[in-house]
Amino acid sequence: MSIPAPLSDPLFHTIGKIADAKGLRAFVIGGYVRDYYLHRPCTDIDVVVTGSGIEVAQELGRQLHSNVSVFKNFGTAMLRVGGMEVEFVGARKESYRADSRKPIVENGTIEDDQKRRDFTINAMAWSLNASDFGALVDPFDGMSDLEQCIIRTPCDPDTTFSDDPLRMLRAIRFATQLGFDIFPETFDAITRNRERIRIVSKERIVTELNKIILSPRPSIGFELLDLTGLLELIFPELARLKGVERRGSHAHKDNFLHTLKVVDNIARKTDDLWLRWAALLHDIAKPATKAYDSKTGWTFHGHEVLGSKMIPGIFRNMKLPLNEKMKFVQKMVFLHLRPIILSEDKVTDSAVRRLLFEAGDDIDALMTLCEADITSGIDAKVQRYLKNFALVRQKMREIEEKDRIRNFQPPITGEIIMETYGLSPCREIGDIKAAIKDAILDGAIGNNYDEAYALMERLAAERGLKKQ
Ligand code: ATP
Repeated sequence: MSIPAPLSDPLFHTIGKIADAKGLRAFVIGGYVRDYYLHRPCTDIDVVVTGSGIEVAQELGRQLHSNVSVFKNFGTAMLRVGGMEVEFVGARKESYRADSRKPIVENGTIEDDQKRRDFTINAMAWSLNASDFGALVDPFDGMSDLEQCIIRTPCDPDTTFSDDPLRMLRAIRFATQLGFDIFPETFDAITRNRERIRIVSKERIVTELNKIILSPRPSIGFELLDLTGLLELIFPELARLKGVERRGSHAHKDNFLHTLKVVDNIARKTDDLWLRWAALLHDIAKPATKAYDSKTGWTFHGHEVLGSKMIPGIFRNMKLPLNEKMKFVQKMVFLHLRPIILSEDKVTDSAVRRLLFEAGDDIDALMTLCEADITSGIDAKVQRYLKNFALVRQKMREIEEKDRIRNFQPPITGEIIMETYGLSPCREIGDIKAAIKDAILDGAIGNNYDEAYALMERLAAERGLKKQ
């Protein structure tokens, strides 16, 4: 029997010896074993002990002179060794009640513990005891599922999902992250048990959604959520994007499928979770703004404005952060049509300046989103858009070089206007400031103090204001 390479780390022998001395069995289990065979990096090591995991962890801590964090309520203990986090837990046997994800827990054997694991590929273990150090303990043949790229529950899937419905999302998340298929019986059980998702907290749901969104092809996950009926329950706004309506010769595109393409496109360009969220939500208000005109067909006027207004509600509901990340997503949704409109017309300096001013430091993110938004099936059309975008980007570089609009602060402040004309705060000040800003963005004057001051003087004179 060959010993899996990661176990050559002396840490594992030390744990095995401690367990042997206490007459216990110890195993590495779960993600660490799975990820080794999948050649994925993994720095979280789960160790399961047939007895007190905490005692084994404390003894290891003594021997390595490392701090041990003990979580008595959960019967777990954790210590950091090198760059690794090693978590210890006693082998458990679990039984569930209908109304809660919290099981009744008893001590159990390694097989009991493997039975309570969610998927066969997550239930594989390596023994750490000297008698069979490195042996793979795999009662549910997780290795064969790993080789065939299959997500399957070790026990009856209806029981597994009903006991802890979060596992339904975990199945879809692993299928998306790893590019695996969900075994048909497992898949059918998710569909049957979908309503059970209601007992899972929003925080847990969004953790899984974020992992789906951060996967190489997030569309896999959203399609599975849709096919199992979970999407409707956990993300109704997205489910509403589905479908095509036809009237006469007019049909609009399926906005759900379009959105998934945009998310996949953006996933090829960035790992930024929030830009990926922006892609997912960019057309979220299309159903609410849809209208039909017998001449022009389907329209979605103002969907970017309404969409950006919907973001706080969606974020609150999903327990996503209501901070600058949310504001960023709002801004992206609000501006997502602007570069497209820009590239359809002649690209004027003034339009580019305005876009630079409104997008500020997020301009690159916005351009990335807009490029991802081009999902036409017609290659010539895609190429034309991309060419125009390249032109917009080029123009932006030139104008930014010249005018430094990105972090634009108008050279004439309200205080300067007040001091110069002896004014207390009043409407005129705002009007003059806005007119100066517009003149700079339109290119009527340069972005500098002297030209802005001269314009202020003209505008003040027009309003009959006299210098102090
Ligand atoms: P990731 O780190 O990507 O989330 P992981 O498999 O390491 O993947 P953890 O959440 O750290 O996930 O879980 C560690 C192990 O615990 C899993 O491999 C699995 O065996 C088990 N596990 C986690 N959550 C559940 C659950 N809800 N039901 C059953 N077993 C679970």
